[in-house]
Amino acid sequence: MIAFTCDIDWASEEIIEDTLNLFELFGVKCTIFSTHHSLLLSKCSKKLFEIGIHPDFTPVFNGDSGKSIDDILDEILDIHPDAQGVRCHTLFQNVALLQKFSEKKLLYDSNNLLPYQTGLRAFKLWNSLVRIPYNWEDDVHWAYGYSFDDSRIDISSEGLLIFDFHPIHIYLNTENKYRYNEAKKFMNDHKKLLSYRNSEVPGTRDLFINLLKHCKSKKVQTHNLKEIAYLCLQNSI
Ligand SMILES: [Zn+2]
Repeated sequence: MIAFTCDIDWASEEIIEDTLNLFELFGVKCTIFSTHHSLLLSKCSKKLFEIGIHPDFTPVFNGDSGKSIDDILDEILDIHPDAQGVRCHTLFQNVALLQKFSEKKLLYDSNNLLPYQTGLRAFKLWNSLVRIPYNWEDDVHWAYGYSFDDSRIDISSEGLLIFDFHPIHIYLNTENKYRYNEAKKFMNDHKKLLSYRNSEVPGTRDLFINLLKHCKSKKVQTHNLKEIAYLCLQNSI
């Protein structure tokens, strides 16, 4: 069962649009974990796109924020009141947060990255929250030093295959942290960012498009994470 996710990480509208256009072009579903208000996300097709939340709790735990966990959670839920899923920025998590997610009536979390592991299953926590692990992330792929000519995941394997992409890395076709570190100074200037796009070696965009092409050509049914969570609750997966 293949699912795509995106962590928006404060990308500009032009960068978000680039990613949404590619999903639409290939008719592939995606669960988007949002960090902020975006007109594009509010208007996008809910047949293809599910919007979850991507709160950033790190300022609270660094002690440099006047905000509480509740403030941060409520702010992003005010922007996306229909969100059913959560993945935290930097994958920040603890047991108290899991309780908060349950109290806020969220259906699932997807904070557990198990890189390249196959046979993953969703499971139900003590507080009825469904936990959906995932097994691939673009910036982790280059942290391992792997080439983007191959995801290193056997997409014919059993269990959940859940990919996580960042729109900025799709846009930049990022292949390593050096490119991103140079380009991120221009996060809000999509024209300038384009001059930093990798065209030398396989990158995030190349791998992403290859996966979308595979799904389209093989007629692979893709799923949003809320659909996976409901299947888990019905004991169907
Ligand atoms: Zn993030």
